Amino acid sequence: MLSRRSFLKTLAIAAAAASSPTLALGFEYGADGAPLPRYDSKDLLDLKPAQQPLFVEGLLNLRSGSTGERFQCHFRDPQGNYNAEHLQYLNWFMRCNYDHQYTRMDIRVVEMLNYLAKWYPGNPEITINSAYRTPQYNRILTRTNENVAKNSLHMLGQALDFSVQGVPTRSVCQVAQAVRNMVGTGGVGYYPRSNFVHIDCGGRAATWVR
Ligand SMILES: [Zn+2]
Repeated sequence: MLSRRSFLKTLAIAAAAASSPTLALGFEYGADGAPLPRYDSKDLLDLKPAQQPLFVEGLLNLRSGSTGERFQCHFRDPQGNYNAEHLQYLNWFMRCNYDHQYTRMDIRVVEMLNYLAKWYPGNPEITINSAYRTPQYNRILTRTNENVAKNSLHMLGQALDFSVQGVPTRSVCQVAQAVRNMVGTGGVGYYPRSNFVHIDCGGRAATWVR
């Protein structure tokens, strides 16, 4: 995990080198010399989802509920080839709301969200309220919010809290459950008062309402 500062510094280096056509978003190392989370060819092989129905195009129209940032994330083509730069930026986009550290998100929860998004016409905007949480931030949340689990899968980059623009949360929850049932594992949480849905790709299949 890297700090926001080192990430931004690295982005600045990448921007300075942007005239080189081979670099694209080619940041590899943070200012402190530590490697950024990076997908090498071995990881990309591991990233092939097993479920054939998940091979719809990987395109997410994202907005951060915390910072307001927007990101058209084209993380995979319909043939199953992942885009390492977009996945890398997605990790940063899904950083902890509290201290801006980030991790490598579990691709399975990203694929679940993508499949859910494809349920709706026109690729509606998805607002991410919470993705990765550092253990410190999760501890703080457990003190003030009884709905936050001590061993939350958000700390492993395996959970997302989100809403879909123009779609009632109840309906999003139903689609999330359908996607989860298709995948066969993972949790779905329905939070009607806060208007968001939680999905995760860890543990056993479960559904809850809070
Ligand atoms: Zn959650």
